[in-house]
Amino acid sequence: MFDFHVHSIFSDGELIPAEIAQRCSILGHKAVAITDHADKSNLELILSNLVPACEDLNKYVDIEVLPGIEITHSPIDMLEDLIKKSKKLGAKVIIVHGETLVEPVPKGTNLAAVKIPEVDILAHPGLLTVEEAELAKENGIFLELSARKGHCLSNGHVAMVANEVKADLLVNTDAHSPSDFITEKEAYNVARGSGLSEKNSGIVISVNPQRFLKNI
Ligand SMILES: [Zn+2]
Ligand SMILES: [Zn+2]
Repeated sequence: MFDFHVHSIFSDGELIPAEIAQRCSILGHKAVAITDHADKSNLELILSNLVPACEDLNKYVDIEVLPGIEITHSPIDMLEDLIKKSKKLGAKVIIVHGETLVEPVPKGTNLAAVKIPEVDILAHPGLLTVEEAELAKENGIFLELSARKGHCLSNGHVAMVANEVKADLLVNTDAHSPSDFITEKEAYNVARGSGLSEKNSGIVISVNPQRFLKNI
């Protein structure tokens, strides 16, 4: 199992990075990314703590712990700057918080995000358009099927549009609490529940994450 979207105490998650690593390792995960909510005010604070913490953890735990960031509710015109800054500060997984149905994310966030090649994942993209999915594919950006309550409401739509243009999908938890982590079997069921075939669900939970890891 791979989970590239998890929150720690550096934003609104409940756990410190060491406990995230330990809990995911016990669940048999191969890799986890810690991707806290950021805007200009806390980007540097998060990454200056998270990057060295992950570096140290990786010496001692049997799971790959990746420092990341989720640019969240940012004005669209600030996105590119924040993303480039995240990369410079050592973020290995750069997520943009997409236009989920359950939060008032600035309209146009999906489209702006998929035009920036440094973005790795567009999270919970709500009513994703074909144009957005095509640009994501073109720029090597993975689209997310979310295991999180609320964000998961549009998984079926996201899977359908991604399939139409053969854009790459990942299943992530967007975990904030210990009970949010899931097993590989549960991730597979999220993919199946989004309308993907057995074969495609297998690809989304095992092949795609490995390709994703190789590229970051
Ligand atoms: Zn959150
Ligand atoms: Zn999140």
